[in-house]
Amino acid sequence: MNIWERVRKGTQVVSEKSGELLEMAKIKAAVAKIETEIVKKYTELGELTYRIYRGEEVDDQVIKKLCEELGELHQELQGYRDQLAKMTTNCPSCKRAVKPGARYCPDCGHALHSEP
Ligand SMILES: [Zn+2]
Repeated sequence: MNIWERVRKGTQVVSEKSGELLEMAKIKAAVAKIETEIVKKYTELGELTYRIYRGEEVDDQVIKKLCEELGELHQELQGYRDQLAKMTTNCPSCKRAVKPGARYCPDCGHALHSEP
């Protein structure tokens, strides 16, 4: 294989991979957004807890609603994490993340069972 064939083949592999990478980037962005949302809700809950401590009147329903929203966000987050986990696999030998379909681990060279 000459250099140009190698470059072409490399480009092909990159474009095949980029669709998957884009999908992963989208999921990671969604995860980051949910994590920010969760932190915001915890902050609100913390503020309400402090107000209760100070003896202020706090509506129970507001706390209940925040907790329910947090539950939903955590579920959503888990869904995205499961999706991400399906898109990556780990080398059984060195435990590093390996892309699905790889025949050998790029780190330790361990042979991986995969369908062609
Ligand atoms: Zn490995």
